[in-house]
Amino acid sequence: MSVAKKIVEAQEKGSFIRKMFEEGIALKKEFGSENVFDFSLGNPDIEPPVELKSHLLRIANEEASGMHGYMPNAGFLQVRQALAQKVNQEQGVNCGPEHLVMSVGAAGGLNALFKAILNPGDEVLVPSPYFVEYGSYIDNHGGIMRLVPSGKDFSLDVPAIVAALNEKTAAVLINSPHNPTGRIYSAESLAELSQALTSHARATGREVLLVGDEPYRDLVYDGAVVPPFLAAHPNSVVVTSYSKSLSLPGERIGYVAINPAAEAALELAGAVAYTTRVLGFVNAPALMQRLVADLVGARVAVEIYAQRRRAFTQVLDAAGLEYSPPEGAFYLFCKVPARKKDGSVSDLEFVNFLKKERILAAPGTGVGATGYIRLAYCVDEKLIRASQAGFIRAVNNWLG
Ligand code: PLP
Repeated sequence: MSVAKKIVEAQEKGSFIRKMFEEGIALKKEFGSENVFDFSLGNPDIEPPVELKSHLLRIANEEASGMHGYMPNAGFLQVRQALAQKVNQEQGVNCGPEHLVMSVGAAGGLNALFKAILNPGDEVLVPSPYFVEYGSYIDNHGGIMRLVPSGKDFSLDVPAIVAALNEKTAAVLINSPHNPTGRIYSAESLAELSQALTSHARATGREVLLVGDEPYRDLVYDGAVVPPFLAAHPNSVVVTSYSKSLSLPGERIGYVAINPAAEAALELAGAVAYTTRVLGFVNAPALMQRLVADLVGARVAVEIYAQRRRAFTQVLDAAGLEYSPPEGAFYLFCKVPARKKDGSVSDLEFVNFLKKERILAAPGTGVGATGYIRLAYCVDEKLIRASQAGFIRAVNNWLG
């Protein structure tokens, strides 16, 4: 297949959210943004923590020589030292700066990692539903994304992962807290997965890398705790970013942390630094590296998301839509109710009924979850509450 054709295909797969985004712009132009209930995009709207600005100003005013220059491809040593401590506390391991590579967001980190580990035809197992860009990140480097089902409650289905393991499996990629379902994978399920991967390695001689994508680790509700991921399995890597926890998606900053107990850990870290360079990133943004090292422990006001989550569940309850409350991240993942006349649960059709009420939702089709819609609550609580009447009308019209 030609590169151009592949790109068009990938665009089409990810195009539902994009299409909604464009329709949202048109609707807002016509009706005013206060009259369009756009829940289609996971673009954080909460301001970064207030202290960010003063740190940014201080860094900008420093006269440190070389602050805008090239640096080691893995990133500034002092930054990686500071973040290694945070990783160790959070992940229950003993990383040094040599195990960290600063990345251009989580997307940049995943691409650098996959370029480092994948040979053509290698498979990466991904529980479905999934973050739609994974397919491209894996395909970019000659790999094949192989979807595996999740449990009924969207928990990890370890037997399904085990059934999909084969001699081509290079990695298992899991995301917790999860986009789009809001699930946090339990420590028990991670331990079960670790055991399965260890048995697979013993039986086949091939070590499968467990990759955790964790940009939502800090966005959790009701005192939920995201279990340490690296401590769960030796051959593991965490990729994360500050896009959500500090509301900095446009600044493109994150890191890859390699478990010191991983197979050839230091070689892998060196490979990821190298692929960061040759993919053309060269290194993660210098100013942002220094900023996030200064802001260890800071996060956006999660209570605002928690309040919106509460408001949104009330709206959905009033409309009779089924969901399970997200444990983390900022998405509500709802079941499309079956139509009375034909039992249809088509998410593609249901989003059109919502659109008539100027409510924009992302259909589950395309992220491996036909019959579901995703509602991102990166919008003001007032707008969430104001959408209630539209939700009720849309559901009533849909049910028939
Ligand atoms: N992984 C998941 C699950 C995401 O939801 C996102 C962005 O929405 C990313 C990765 C990419 O994050 P970043 O903007 O840091 O590249």
